[in-house]
Amino acid sequence: MPDSEFLEKHQLYRKFDFQFSKPLLEKIEKVNINMHCSKCQNMRTFNMTNNYSTFLDGNLTYRIQFKSQPLYSGYNLIPKEGLVTWLTYKCASCNTFTRHFFIEMNSNDNFIRKVGQLPPWDIQPDKELQSILGDYIGYYKNGLICESQGYGIGAYAYYRRIIEEIIDSLLEQIGSLIEQGENIQYMEALERTKQTNITQEKIKLVYDLLPPILNPEEFNPLKTLHQVLSEGVHGRSDDACLKDAEVLRETTLFLVKAVLRSIKEKKEFTDKMRKLLERQRQNKSNQRE
Ligand SMILES: [Zn+2]
Repeated sequence: MPDSEFLEKHQLYRKFDFQFSKPLLEKIEKVNINMHCSKCQNMRTFNMTNNYSTFLDGNLTYRIQFKSQPLYSGYNLIPKEGLVTWLTYKCASCNTFTRHFFIEMNSNDNFIRKVGQLPPWDIQPDKELQSILGDYIGYYKNGLICESQGYGIGAYAYYRRIIEEIIDSLLEQIGSLIEQGENIQYMEALERTKQTNITQEKIKLVYDLLPPILNPEEFNPLKTLHQVLSEGVHGRSDDACLKDAEVLRETTLFLVKAVLRSIKEKKEFTDKMRKLLERQRQNKSNQRE
């Protein structure tokens, strides 16, 4: 496959632009991917272990794969109307756990897309995410289910709902990360966010005042959320919404995790400093005695 991220992250039926230099299967590169292995219980590198084998092509001819050698290895031209090819990936560590992908290739309209994947998308969030999302974990899972089936409009709506529910407390928490004395402008903007119920308007009021710790390398997560939320779903296709749903999901998780981590680090630092100063004071008063 030309792109590991396409295999790792793309949802089913979401088209991925792909220029076929020549419509030949053997001209398509094989890449390694990095995904979770159920046997190793960790993220692992997976290698593609078969050749691009077609079991169903544009002429509805069945091709049988036998011991990873395609029975018909001579015919590798991708027909105009496209074909479905089967990719097997094995974990490079345990050499046991296998993932399968079924990819439609269309050299006429220059796209590829997943039409099947085993094991399917995992919608079971890890423990950290469960505790972070709390009551909203149901929306999150529903969003993932929609994404896995290519229902972009549905996924977008679920993730949007999570942001709408958490935005007020999220913006409050961000405020607590700005040093006192430097946060006047933010606090004023925060007050104004309470006068509107529209999430993207709230975000717009504060996105330029984000502390540097949440604004890494020119990537402003609040600005990204504002942009994607302003797009909305009206008149847009499932396909167009899928991409935005993914951005909403990843940006929200990035922001929520970064805020919680920063609050925790700030508290640990303050506690440490408090203890240090306390010890110094103790030493000084001991010396005086
Ligand atoms: Zn493994």
